[in-house]
Amino acid sequence: MRFRAAALRAGAALDALPLAARGPHDETLTIDLAWLGAHRPRHVVLHISGVHGVEAFAGSAAQLALLAAPPALPADGALILVHVLNPYGMAWLRRANEHNVDLNRNFHLDNGIWTGAPPLYKRLDALLNPASPPERDAFALRLSVAGLRHGVRAVRQAIAHGQHRYPRGLFYGGAELQPGPRLFIDWLQAQLGSAETLIAIDLHTGLGPYAGDTLLIEPGVGTTALPILSRALQRPLAGGNTTPGAYTVRGSLGSALPRVLPGTRVEFVLQEIGTRSALRVLHALREENRWHHYGDGHTEHPAKRRLLEALCPAAPAWREAAVAQATDVAYRAAAWLFHGKL
Ligand SMILES: [Zn+2]
Repeated sequence: MRFRAAALRAGAALDALPLAARGPHDETLTIDLAWLGAHRPRHVVLHISGVHGVEAFAGSAAQLALLAAPPALPADGALILVHVLNPYGMAWLRRANEHNVDLNRNFHLDNGIWTGAPPLYKRLDALLNPASPPERDAFALRLSVAGLRHGVRAVRQAIAHGQHRYPRGLFYGGAELQPGPRLFIDWLQAQLGSAETLIAIDLHTGLGPYAGDTLLIEPGVGTTALPILSRALQRPLAGGNTTPGAYTVRGSLGSALPRVLPGTRVEFVLQEIGTRSALRVLHALREENRWHHYGDGHTEHPAKRRLLEALCPAAPAWREAAVAQATDVAYRAAAWLFHGKL
């Protein structure tokens, strides 16, 4: 409601893509889109929040800030804010969607790749996804033993790569394209098929140093603007496995966008704002996943609250830093695309 009100105040056109899933109080859930600027834009900045549900709070705050003070737009430019691609996860304080699918592992545009899991994930499944409610079970110790045995980097990559074999497991990519991504892809093709250039910024939280941000590029997707942006922002720019803590994934939103909009030059950046350690974030994801599948899933449970704190810390300094860094990248992307400057 705040997003919609802010969009109307800013003079944006609003659109809403409804999902069949419901919130914990039986609320309807929509992916909301606010469109500022040209109706048939040549150049577009597309800002996306909440691909990972519970990570949406930071992105939503940043989008409210952008609506309160939008960047200057030329006659042929548009700024489009996609408010929460996974509203089920935001409402239920989950990373995954209504089918336990990690949407950033679900953007497969080809058929026939909805199976399998990394071999090491299969060995870690029992540790990552116990079929029981949350409890203390020496997870950190057991994970570090797995790291010693297989290598920390290999373990991290196997967990985060995405898997299609364990439907109740973490980082599950699904068995088909999910309703939210389907609606979003159809919307993009109907509305932006004639755009010349698009910079997409996909905002996440949970990776990297506390309150710091990292820009991650998608191998092969639009690498013109982002190295320039990265230098101007003096921020680390990373791709896949070259960064400590980062990893490569299958079925990401960024990898799909150029194929969704084949006539458009697509630049893509995934902006991560760091929160807690990778171990603490993973542990919080694991316990919430157990509560969702093997508890009653209500959102006041400590497992839910810990996941929220792990991905959107309550400290005001963190929240201010998150909004400042997210809006900074959006403004600079707009300045570069619309006005050719940084
Ligand atoms: Zn994320």
